[in-house]
Amino acid sequence: MHTDALTTALEDGIVQIRLPMAGNPMRHINGYLVREDDGFTLIDCGWKTDDVLAALHAGLAEAGETLAAVKRIVVTHMHFDHYGLAGTLLRAGVPDLLLHAKDWEFASRILADPLEADRISDLWLGRNGFPVEPSHEEAEHHRLNELTEPTRIVADGERIGRLLVVWTPGHTPGHICLVDTQSGRMFTGDHVLDPVTPHVGFWAEHRGDPLGDYIASLERVGSIGASGVLPAHGEPFPDLQRRVDELLAHEATREDQIVDVLHAGPASAAGVAERLPWTRRNKPFADLGEFHQQFAVAETLAHLEHLRAESRAGRHDDGGYRYTLTA
Ligand SMILES: [Zn+2]
Ligand SMILES: [Zn+2]
Repeated sequence: MHTDALTTALEDGIVQIRLPMAGNPMRHINGYLVREDDGFTLIDCGWKTDDVLAALHAGLAEAGETLAAVKRIVVTHMHFDHYGLAGTLLRAGVPDLLLHAKDWEFASRILADPLEADRISDLWLGRNGFPVEPSHEEAEHHRLNELTEPTRIVADGERIGRLLVVWTPGHTPGHICLVDTQSGRMFTGDHVLDPVTPHVGFWAEHRGDPLGDYIASLERVGSIGASGVLPAHGEPFPDLQRRVDELLAHEATREDQIVDVLHAGPASAAGVAERLPWTRRNKPFADLGEFHQQFAVAETLAHLEHLRAESRAGRHDDGGYRYTLTA
């Protein structure tokens, strides 16, 4: 595919700009320019570094435009690689920033005091059987992000020019997908990726049942359908339903594996994660790097909390959380 080009002009007045994610296995995040009567909407904007800003300017120039043509930024969710540069772009003159209420609240809670958020996150992992050495440095995903107030809060079913907002909670509480009413394609953010499996974790800042929300959101976008998928990472692909089915099957397999582990007796989230295969290559937990292990524990927790929300598992606190299957 065209993975080394900076931009690809897609049909229907859409331009894909590959914004760099230096040092990250994802390699890039797609910013999408969507032509409107008054200029362009930019969907997702990369994290807050000079090389991303430079790539965005270069991408706009390749498309024969400048930043002045960008009238609004729509952020699919508050993660640093989608939202981090938004403040910089507003200061450079982009008039509007649009975000779902749930992610504005989520971002405000985490980014108001990132060091404190990290401390709470470390305690949470410890409580779930995965003690971590407290760090005194701000994590990269905070450093490359910036809490920037949206000029407009958007909700499910609203129109942003030719785009229709579909609220898809799960990956974050306020994640949105956007249906292009002109071409029938769907911008899926991090909700539907291929071949990457989107991360759905239960971290300290989560409430409720993110995995249950994610599964319902997958079913929802599958039922809406699309003539093509424009994901935030990787390349556009045609068949939304095929990928939705694969992701639903993946989560179901994962659940079976976790229930099997719990059949052997009560376990912490880390205790369960240690007995599961990880990555597409089925690596043992012990072979993952520490950062990846934290994600594995958070993903396992999302499953355990989903089982608990469905009254299929219970949680006990004996100095740390342990999960058991309900009889
Ligand atoms: Zn994300
Ligand atoms: Zn992302």
